[in-house]
Formats: sequence, C-alpha cells, structure tokens
Amino acid sequence: MAIRIYNSLSKQVEDFKPMKPDMVLMYLCGPTVYDYVTIGNYRTYTLGDIVNRVFAFNGFKVKYIMNYTDVGHLTGDNAGDADVGDDRLEAAAEKEGRSAREIADYYINDFLKGYDKLNLIRPFKFTRATEYIHEQLDLVRALERQGFTYRTSDGIYFDTSKFEEYGALSGLSAESIKEGARVEPNPEKKNPTDFALWKFSPTDTKRWQEWDSPWGIGFPGWHLECSAMAMKELGETIDIHLGGEDLRMIHHQNEIAQSECATGKKFVNYWMHGAFLQVDGGRMGKSLGNAFTVVDIENKGYDAMALRYFYLSAHYRSTLNFTWEALLGAQNSLHKLYDILAGYKESEDASPSERHLSLFIQAVNNDFNIPEALAVLWDTLKSNLPEPVKIATAIKMDAVLGLNLENYVGYEIPQDVVNLAKTRGEYRKAGIWDKADMVRRQIEEKGYIVEDASDGKFKLKRKM
Ligand code: AMP
Ligand code: ZN
Repeated sequence: MAIRIYNSLSKQVEDFKPMKPDMVLMYLCGPTVYDYVTIGNYRTYTLGDIVNRVFAFNGFKVKYIMNYTDVGHLTGDNAGDADVGDDRLEAAAEKEGRSAREIADYYINDFLKGYDKLNLIRPFKFTRATEYIHEQLDLVRALERQGFTYRTSDGIYFDTSKFEEYGALSGLSAESIKEGARVEPNPEKKNPTDFALWKFSPTDTKRWQEWDSPWGIGFPGWHLECSAMAMKELGETIDIHLGGEDLRMIHHQNEIAQSECATGKKFVNYWMHGAFLQVDGGRMGKSLGNAFTVVDIENKGYDAMALRYFYLSAHYRSTLNFTWEALLGAQNSLHKLYDILAGYKESEDASPSERHLSLFIQAVNNDFNIPEALAVLWDTLKSNLPEPVKIATAIKMDAVLGLNLENYVGYEIPQDVVNLAKTRGEYRKAGIWDKADMVRRQIEEKGYIVEDASDGKFKLKRKM
C-alpha cells in the first residue's frame, strides 16, 4: 500500500515513490544549538520520528540525517532576514562567557536528553554545520563558477533572479517578500530575495568561529549548510526534506535555489512541513516566558512521554495548542493505556489482529494520520478480541507510536519492591518520615513509584 504524503511543493497529497526501491533518503532541519530546545521544536522532531518509523514499518530502510546549526544562523532571521544581526552562537558565547564550541556542545547534550526522553529514534547521523565547512565552500565555488553569485561589502550573495523557479516552494514573489520584511533591506543586494552564501568576519572583532575562504575570512550563510550536508550525506537528490512551517518560505526556498543551481538536478522530491505548536492559543517565545522545555514539563510533575502522546493527538499539519490542562489530559490517557495493558494476561503464541492492523496502516500511510491511528489502537483495546491478541496488536502498532507500551504489558511487581513498600508504610505509620523517604528512594532506584491512597494503602507502578 502506497504511502501518501502532502508535498508542500505541489501542494497536493501524492503517492510516495522512492528513488531507490525500499530506501528513503531523508533530511530534517534540526536545532540551532545556542539555547535550550523548546517543546515547539520537539514537535517538529517528533514529526521526523513518526515519518522515520512509518517508513520502517512499511519495510523501508531509512537513511535519516538531522543537522545541528552551530554557526551562521543570525538573529535577523526572526524579522525575516537571515543575513543581518548577530550570529546566535557568537552572541550566546558572549553572554555566557564560554566559547561558541562549548555553547554548542552544552546545548547539543541537553537536546539529546530531551530527544531520548521523548523516545525519538536517533537518526542515522546528526551532522554539525561546522564540520562541513569544506563542502559548503565547494558549493559556493560551484555557484560562483556558474555565475550565480556576486560580492557585496559584507559577503558573497546568491543572485535569485538567475534562478527562474525561485518562489516555487514559497509561492512568494520577490516583491511580496520585500513588503513583508520587517527589517531595512540591505541596499547592496540586487534583489530582496538574494541571500548570503558566505559572510565576511567583522574587521574590528575576532569571531569564535571563522574560516579562510577564496573570498576572505568569514563564515557560511545559514541556508548553505543544509544543502551542503544533505547532499554530502544523501546525494544530490533526496526523497524527503522536513522542517517546521516557518522554514518553508525562505530557508527551504533558498536551499532549493543554491542546490539546484549548483548541480542542475532536482534537490528534493517531497517537502514536508510541520505546523507550529502554540501556547495558550498564541505564539510561543522566549520573551513571552512560555518557551517551555522538556525539563519544565518534568518539573511540573509530568512525564516526557505524556508530551509525546500530546503531540500524537494532532495531525502534523494542524496547529497544536499547548496548555497544561491539555497535557494533563494526554497524561491521563497515556496512563489509562498503560493501566489497561498492565491488567491483561499475555500469551506467547498470540498474533496481532489483521483487521485492526490494516486499519492502522491505512491511517499512518495516509499522510501520517496519527490521531486516527491512535483511535484504532483504542478501538482495538475496547474490542472483544482476546487479551493476548490485543497485546500483540498494540505492541505491533507501538513500533510507529513509540509509547513504550511493551514495558507495561502484564508486568508483575518484584517481591523485593513490594517488601520495601511495606517497610515504608510502617515507617510512615510510625511517623519516621526521613526513613520512609529513604525507602521511597530505594524503590525509585529499582524503577518503581509508590503512590499513597488515603486509607494507608499504596499502589506500586513502574516508573516511566
Ligand atoms: P531553530 O532552532 O529555530 O532553527 O528551529 C529548529 C526546528 O524547530 C525547525 O525545524 C523549526 O521549524 C522548528 N520550530 C521552531 N519553533 C517551532 C514551534 N513553535 N513549533 C514547531 N516547530 C518549531
Ligand atoms: Zn535547514
């Protein structure tokens, strides 16, 4: 059964046709590693994870690349112009008193912790922009050779008027971009849509990260890195390119322009864009104090997996509104799912329900309709199928959903954990709170959580 994808380039749902049989080459624009990654960003990475898992579920081998932007992403991008402002990495280094490399390492490490907590399967490779400078310079050289570039006082620019198909993805003419921009246009640019391929280092300050080039010391423009890394790792034409919807208009349009002009080949067959996560019905932003992280979620007592379930509850092309109540709702549903599975009896020889699996595959292959796939999972559990069949079906579906369902199936609490919980209950009865707390920690170290009921009884659950 064909996998159907809404292609942002054709603005239509299309049957997916891979270039190589049974193989998918896929690239996703990852985080700019100058600050903590937000739950908005993670919505987009969860989309990448779902697409990756759905292809694997259909028997494809997926070569999946995600990048770290650790240079060249300027603050002007927020106002619609990626060629002006400070380099976010350099600014963070200045502010935090660490080198740009240390800043990147620190936030990459933090990003990966959240990534793993959300049970996102790691890509084939995470690529760092600063490790592909050579490829980026080669790309600028290729464009220069073919007459697509020009020089200004601050860098080497791509001349978008030389690429006839410019605007095919964004749907925007140069004029409408000019009107939409909230920053003063660079007067040296020949066209408002032109963008920097290579920027020169300032003459008065030394940057943390800069490289020699045929045009002068400097650093690569933000858009350039994704083209260079995608083509180096996956080839000149790739199957799928993903990112958040904010990248469609400019960043991805520019990736197409520079890649296709350099190689003369189509860069990407299917463009996918994930809708944004909002908070309380509005924009999420650092300045608004609502750019929550996975750690913020945990500090409020929620599981990271509840956030994953929350993401799965909406189709990727619909805006999703984050509220704490909605997260609580997602967590309750997830815990209910775990509780139901924990109550079932397993049997080794049960096989999944073909009928439910087929409905599930229809949903996920129909432009990644995960909310519908979740509904099929719930229908399976509510059906009158034998319990072992329900378990086998749910576990099979979880290869796509990634909710760790297997961990909760018919588990028994080990006797030593039950004994510890009883000991803790006795300490509590006697009012010896510090010892009761110590035993609770021992229980947690063994991977369980003890919940107290009002009548002095307790319930043990596996930690998520
Ligand atoms: P950045 O770190 O700003 O380069 O963004 C990294 C990725 O997260 C990109 O693919 C963005 O499109 C995506 N992104 C940023 N903000 C949000 C949001 N609020 N909701 C969903 N995706 C987002
Ligand atoms: Zn990119």
